[in-house]
Amino acid sequence: MKKYKNLVVGCGLSGAVMANKLANELGETVLVIDRKKHIAGTCYDYKNEYGITVHQYGPHIFRTNSKEIWDFLSQYTQWYPFMHKVLGLIDGIEVPIPFNLNSLYKVFPPQMAAGLEAKLIAAFGFNKKIPILQLRGTQDKDLHFLAEYIYTKVFLGYTLKQWDYTPEQLDPSVTGSVPVYISRDDRYFQEKYQAIPRQGYTKMFENMLHHPNIEVRLETDFADIQKEVSYERLIYTGAIEEFFNYKYGKLPYRSLDIKIETFDTEKFQNAPVVNYPENYDFTRIAEYKYFLNEKSPKTTLSFEYPENFEEGKNDRIYPILNEANQAVYDRYAADAKTMPNTYFIGRLGAYRYYDMNRTIANALETFKLIKNKR
Ligand code: UDP
Repeated sequence: MKKYKNLVVGCGLSGAVMANKLANELGETVLVIDRKKHIAGTCYDYKNEYGITVHQYGPHIFRTNSKEIWDFLSQYTQWYPFMHKVLGLIDGIEVPIPFNLNSLYKVFPPQMAAGLEAKLIAAFGFNKKIPILQLRGTQDKDLHFLAEYIYTKVFLGYTLKQWDYTPEQLDPSVTGSVPVYISRDDRYFQEKYQAIPRQGYTKMFENMLHHPNIEVRLETDFADIQKEVSYERLIYTGAIEEFFNYKYGKLPYRSLDIKIETFDTEKFQNAPVVNYPENYDFTRIAEYKYFLNEKSPKTTLSFEYPENFEEGKNDRIYPILNEANQAVYDRYAADAKTMPNTYFIGRLGAYRYYDMNRTIANALETFKLIKNKR
């Protein structure tokens, strides 16, 4: 039986960061396993025959305010500086998302927009971000009209497609991450560092995992590997409920059926991502050549069709955050706490809607915990 100091289950972002730190900083041996045929989890990308780098699981734009995280990843990739922009098709008009003061002037006549702009600034202040559920609580008649307009046109249809729930049925943080922005800033994110790995995410993962102490085994299941290897510490980035054999019941997730298509035209849309809250069954279209400014006479797009996660059919992509699901997760988390030398991290291990930045932060915190325990 081969011996490793660490077994890391899952070769997505949390697993790769942990393996890297355990090998580089502690000099420990690490076996990383993944069920899939590829590394990098849902960050996986590849260059297609048209020279366009496609994100197989939908668009990933890296951003962080943390210099520690930025410097950590910068050891493993060069960057293409990229400030993400999203347009939403509202009443047939392309408007900046998050909905901001520029969006206001796109959808309303100038005088009406000016009146609403003045009221927004007076009520909340310039450069403030207001979650839609909070904006809906305003008493002012005009602001109430505006809130209902944005709620209906930007959030309701999109959220029903994405989650099969209304915004109020989900944890407020879900729609709160795309707040109405009282500003002229058309960027989707405001973080200090925003970029795409210049050689792609997959290459960045390869570099992170390139260490004599790290071994990666793909198409390998946790259940099978336990008969073959021994380990002292377990980092589990898979679904926590699966680890515990569903003893408190299933935790629901949304998944995505992503259709990738190449069109025989140089450019399809006016932004890297266009959201369709009101039309079609997909939520958004991403046009990949934008992300690394790749040139091609053709263009490759992804169409995201959300659907429920079903074992054996698709992947767990989004934990569905609401009180009932959190209560089930808490029972698993309580059991997890009692297990020595075992850590559950990442979107599936922690049942959190982490973006890449928070995933890395979660892994680095866990690593520090392990390091200080030794
Ligand atoms: N959202 C929406 N309309 C939009 C954009 C976002 O209703 O045009 C809501 C929706 O509920 C979505 C959430 O805000 O799931 C978070 O959006 P984000 O773009 O951050 O989602 P992700 O990129 O993680 O899929």
